[in-house]
Amino acid sequence: MTDSPPASTLLHGVSLRRFNTFGLESSAERYFRATSLGSLREALRIELPTLVLGGGSNLLLTRDVPGLVLHLDLRGVRVLPKGDYVEVTAAAGENWHEFVAYTVDAGYGGLENLSLIPGSVGASPVQNIGAYGVELKDRFVSLKALHRETLDLREFRAEDCGFGYRHSVFKRELAGQYIITEVTFRLSVGEHDLRADYGDVREHVVAQGVGEAPGQSRLSPKHISTAVIAIRRSKLPDPAEIGNSGSFFKNPELSLSDYESFAALHPSAPSYELPAGGRKIPAGWLIEQAGWKGHRRGAIGVHDRQALVLVNHGGGSGRELFALAREIQADVEAKFGVALEMEVNVF
Ligand code: FAD
Ligand code: NAP
Repeated sequence: MTDSPPASTLLHGVSLRRFNTFGLESSAERYFRATSLGSLREALRIELPTLVLGGGSNLLLTRDVPGLVLHLDLRGVRVLPKGDYVEVTAAAGENWHEFVAYTVDAGYGGLENLSLIPGSVGASPVQNIGAYGVELKDRFVSLKALHRETLDLREFRAEDCGFGYRHSVFKRELAGQYIITEVTFRLSVGEHDLRADYGDVREHVVAQGVGEAPGQSRLSPKHISTAVIAIRRSKLPDPAEIGNSGSFFKNPELSLSDYESFAALHPSAPSYELPAGGRKIPAGWLIEQAGWKGHRRGAIGVHDRQALVLVNHGGGSGRELFALAREIQADVEAKFGVALEMEVNVF
């Protein structure tokens, strides 16, 4: 991490503005950047954190943070060859996209659809990050996490994590109890399980000369990663240019009977089948139909190309964004009878 406050030093009154992708002003009463397991344990022995911070890309700060902000900056990647696959372990503070790029460049398959997601490796299991038809749980082996009070390092296998759609036990049942220190993934070597059938991905890989005809290349993780990066850059706002935290709300999942009642009233609404039954409706469609797309209120608003993304044009506050999000929830519920759940972690 360049241009960061010094590691392993307790600092007072640190601005968190450049540590959250909304670019919101909020002051940490105390701030500690941990770069080793030893310094992390040491910090926890002195004070329990009010907030654990990774890349700050899924966080809405609505106030100053009393007590300690613990910024995880543990680094390192190791690869364990296992024959026709590898197990790759990355420390929590590794940047997610740089880690994915490293695996793709090494020829390992599995994480390519998750290219260009901001944030850290350590936060990736918290909401079981997903994009373009792949979720973290599909490639997950295990993680290690430190219990914040006992300081025991525990291993969690997939069955312990309660992974669901943008969900895990770390988001609710065990929220705030464990600090994830590293995550291990099972990635393919040679024979890959490549998923190019989501949205425009196929079109973008074909444009790279991928196909069955002589002279064309065979589809690889690199082709998919390149396609996903291009699509994301064309559609999603870059937090370096405009403050945002990606999708603000989850896509609502309806039981089949609720969906049928909804679809009878809104036959043009897009929807997708859920593996466990029922259907998912894009929250962006609901918000756009309710008239919020491109809405601007002072320094904050709703993105003009993707209604699921709330934005801070610069100088807005977390409270204003939270109030706007509440208004959108109430309006969508009144117009469609569908409750939107916030995906972003609100502090
Ligand atoms: P933070 O925002 O720092 O933290 C998020 C939560 O996890 C907080 O509650 C925090 O306390 C907790 N946490 C952080 N680190 C740890 C740790 N080591 N141990 C325990 N708890 C921890 N998400 C997707 O799923 N798919 C996408 O395609 C996607 N696209 C995005 C695009 C943009 C432009 C943006 C801004 C965000 C996007 N996101 C996406 C959301 C976000 O990038 C992910 O949720 C990411 O995993 C958050 O990582 P972070 O390190 O920034 O977490
Ligand atoms: P999009 O492709 O325009 O699609 C809109 C919504 O419809 C998505 O949220 C997606 O659900 C759903 N969808 C589209 N095609 C689908 C399919 N073939 N099967 C199942 N569901 C489908 O969405 P986008 O905003 O450009 O984002 C593209 C991908 O990146 C999505 O997977 C999205 O989740 C992910 N993303 C996530 C965040 C975040 O912060 N969480 C931010 C940006 C992008 P899913 O979300 O379940 O895929």
